[in-house]
Amino acid sequence: MGGGHGLLARSHGLTCDSLQQINMVDSQARALQANAGSEPDLYWACRGGGGGSFGIATQFMISAFPLQTALVFGVSWKLSQPHAARIFAAWQTWAPNAPITITSILKVGPAGGGLITMRCIGQSVGSETELRNELKTLTTLETPSSALSVQSLSFLNAVKHFAGPLEYESAPFKAKSDYVLTPLDSAGIHDIMAAVAPIPVGNIVLLCDSYGGKVSDVAADATAFPRRVGTQYCIQYFSSWTRAGDTPTRLAQVAKVYAAMRPHMPGASYVNYCDLDLPDFAKAYWGDNLARLVAVKQQFDPDNLFHHAQSVPVSLPAV
Ligand SMILES: Cc1cc2nc3c(=O)[nH]c(=O)nc-3n(C[C@H](O)[C@H](O)[C@H](O)COP(=O)(O)OP(=O)(O)OC[C@H]3O[C@@H](n4cnc5c(N)ncnc54)[C@H](O)[C@@H]3O)c2cc1C
Repeated sequence: MGGGHGLLARSHGLTCDSLQQINMVDSQARALQANAGSEPDLYWACRGGGGGSFGIATQFMISAFPLQTALVFGVSWKLSQPHAARIFAAWQTWAPNAPITITSILKVGPAGGGLITMRCIGQSVGSETELRNELKTLTTLETPSSALSVQSLSFLNAVKHFAGPLEYESAPFKAKSDYVLTPLDSAGIHDIMAAVAPIPVGNIVLLCDSYGGKVSDVAADATAFPRRVGTQYCIQYFSSWTRAGDTPTRLAQVAKVYAAMRPHMPGASYVNYCDLDLPDFAKAYWGDNLARLVAVKQQFDPDNLFHHAQSVPVSLPAV
């Protein structure tokens, strides 16, 4: 309901772009079926508006695609800040404009001693030749610290490769996000490296999800998800820890890196990476789609039965 960006986003679109119908129980206990022909406003809102605002979703009908195998890849670097900046600049030029078969994520973190660790991971539904050729943009620019690996896996194993095991320990984490709507200039990239490098190793990672491809084929107002044509990538500032006593330090570290990037960012965030610190979450999550979301809220839940800290408001926030 928030969109759904994954490693098939550039080849197949967001998860919400495959949603054909959603069944929902609304605040008046009506069982609704929302699709392109029935309750089209609710259908529109449930593709990007996020959960917990309009009713209780009871069923999703989603288009499926035949896909037997996928290529999964990864390549890493450990670099000084100026060299890491070169990889970052090359990735941000390449990743949102690469063949739509390829969806990549660039992970940026501290490596100690003022160095930066970077890892480009992703998935391709194209040929291995195409993928290896495309990745030369990065692998010939700076020598990787661990060589490029490319594996052809069954689709399910590709999912498992990135999702990890089903048995995992829950751990506290903090995430904040920024959509990059025009490529960062050299000052912006410099500031990323300068903010990340001094943080202790393992305490933060910036996950840059590439957009473009099929995500851009849908108009910004065709669904409630507003980050379409022109959106380059989304940076998720992420920290996860296990000891409760670490919480203040980790929150401060994420906040510091995020603060360093304020001069370079347009103030757009991803509703699925919910961030309770945002001063104007509604504008950050939904941009120009906010007014229509508020109208849908008024239509289906005027008494605000379904609400949480960042649900769609019943009226437009005062400017
Ligand atoms: C480790 C991690 C990795 C993630 N990776 C990605 C990623 O790669 N791409 C991406 O797009 N997102 C990602 N997310 C975000 C994730 O997609 C969102 O958190 C999403 O909202 C989770 O859906 P959920 O069904 O678990 O809902 P919950 O987290 O349980 O709920 C989300 C909201 O929906 C409401 N809600 C729950 N159930 C219903 C219902 N039946 N009807 C209506 N509202 C409901 C809740 O009240 C809440 O407001 C990640 C999250 C985590 C924790």
